[in-house]
Parts: sequence; C-alpha cells; structure tokens
Amino acid sequence: MNIILLGAPGAGKGTQAAYVAKRLNLAYIATGDLFRKAVEQGTELGKQAKYYMEEGKLCPDEITIGMLLERLANPDCQTGVVFDGFPRNLNQAEALDKALAQQSQGIDKVVYIKVSEEELLRRLSGRWVCRNCQAPYHITDFPPQIQGRCDKCGGELYQRPDDATPTVKKRLKVYLAATAPLIDYYTRLGKLVEVDGEGKAEKVAKRIIKALGKGDAVS
Ligand code: AMP
Repeated sequence: MNIILLGAPGAGKGTQAAYVAKRLNLAYIATGDLFRKAVEQGTELGKQAKYYMEEGKLCPDEITIGMLLERLANPDCQTGVVFDGFPRNLNQAEALDKALAQQSQGIDKVVYIKVSEEELLRRLSGRWVCRNCQAPYHITDFPPQIQGRCDKCGGELYQRPDDATPTVKKRLKVYLAATAPLIDYYTRLGKLVEVDGEGKAEKVAKRIIKALGKGDAVS
C-alpha cells in the first residue's frame, strides 16, 4: 500500500505519517527530513538545498525527484510507503506515478489533512524538532518530558529556522500555489480522502486510519 499525506506546513503530516507507517508496517519517506539531514551533513545535495529551504521555497524538482527515487529504491520500500512532503507539485506527482508504475505499483490513497490557517500559524510558531531523530514537539500541545531534550533519543531539540514567522508565511503561499492543486489532481483520480486535522494528534490519527479503511489495524 502506498499512501500520501497531503496538507499545508503545520497540518501534522510528519506526526501522522510516522504513526500511520508504524501502524500499517510501511516505510516512511519525508523529503524535508532527507533534505535537513543532507544540510546537516554538508553534502553536495545539502549545499544545493540550503538556500531554498531557508527562503521557504521548494527545492528544484530535479534534485528533489532524484533524491526521492534513490530512497524509493531501498528494499524497505517494496511493501509500501507513506509519503510525507512529497509530491509538492504536479510534476513531482507525475514522476512518482511513473516510478511506482515501473514496479507495477501505484498510489492507493491520498489523505488530505485539513487545518485552518490560524491554527497552522499557531502550531508552527510553537514547534520544536529533535536534531537527531526529527521527532516533533510543541511547546504547549506536546512538550518534551525534559525541556530541550527528545523523549525518544535524548537528542537536542531546536526550532527549525524556516518555522520563523516571515518564512512560514512564504511557505504557506508556496503551498497554496504549488501543492494545493494536487488536491484536485488526486480527487480526479478518485484517490483523495479528506480528514479534519484539528484537535488532538491521537484523534486525528484515528480519523486517518478510519479514512484509509484500516480501522481494524488500530488497537
Ligand atoms: P518540510 O519538512 O516538508 O516542511 O520541508 C522543508 C523544506 O524542504 C521545504 O520548505 C522545501 O524547501 C524542502 N522540500 C521538502 N520536500 C520538498 C519537495 N517535495 N519539493 C521541493 N522542496 C521540498
């Protein structure tokens, strides 16, 4: 089963995608995480991506699709993947369809997580992320047990530079222009399911699993 989680920055894609992948035993690919790792490691890819990320812009398709296809070739992806942050535009969606078709696979469902703009801004401005394992936290909604430390791996928590308000506003604009048209694209293909992304993360997770027709998989 291949699933895409679609939604604006701050809609909760990362939290929910990691949860869904674990529950349904699927691989998890987040292109934003792959880029951040490359930037941190100072690789050639990271050097190319850094400017776009800091500006809140999309990285060029050429490097993004190349990176995604390389990750998709890993054996853990054979039984299915949850995609988070990819595709971000129609060109990427078509490249993904083509790559999966070559393996006689396709996208099964696209979950659109809908959240109001006001709530998106509130969430992003309070978000902290583990520098080591990328686990997300929120200063009021989901604080870590020890301030500044990841509950899962003890890594240092930091605020993503692109979560600063002016960049967040740019990212939301980019989302509306480039990514929101994917809602129509996958609706036309009969693959889109819309889920209310407001409220507690556990509640949203239940809605997503139900929308995927996998209610039995939730204990
Ligand atoms: P995210 O963690 O998904 O919010 O991504 C952080 C940043 O990484 C984005 O603002 C883009 O600069 C870049 N990025 C992540 N995924 C993509 C993608 N599919 N296409 C282009 N740029 C991306």
